[in-house]
Amino acid sequence: MDCLFCKIIEGEIPSQCLYEDDKVYVFKDIDPQAPVHFLVIPKKHIDSLDAMEDEDSELIGYVFKKIRDLAREEGLEDGYRVVHNIGEDGGQSVKHMHFHVLGGRSLQWPPG
Ligand code: 5GP
Ligand code: ZN
Repeated sequence: MDCLFCKIIEGEIPSQCLYEDDKVYVFKDIDPQAPVHFLVIPKKHIDSLDAMEDEDSELIGYVFKKIRDLAREEGLEDGYRVVHNIGEDGGQSVKHMHFHVLGGRSLQWPPG
């Protein structure tokens, strides 16, 4: 499958990895929008939450637990934002499920 993030997981494309285990891969966004901006992705290729199957529920719960753990490790005790863009109107540019974790400054709401 021609997927950018699958290639990053496989090491075919270099990335700044923050954490990896058998289920998830975590790396710095190449174009950070905040002092801390990393992406948390399941190693299993799923296009987005819109494409998740019932059997993916446990995996996605695990992804969120890792988001919590890594946000703590990255010093985001004052708060942070988790973003999952879905489809064209949602602004999704990479069709492999990924959760942006942003923090390190006061974030505005609502987004554009
Ligand atoms: P989306 O727009 O799909 O929600 O987010 C995709 C994110 O992936 C963007 O924030 C973009 O900066 C990031 N990105 C795109 N290509 C690469 C890459 O090759 N390496 C890394 N580390 N991030 C990437
Ligand atoms: Zn993929």
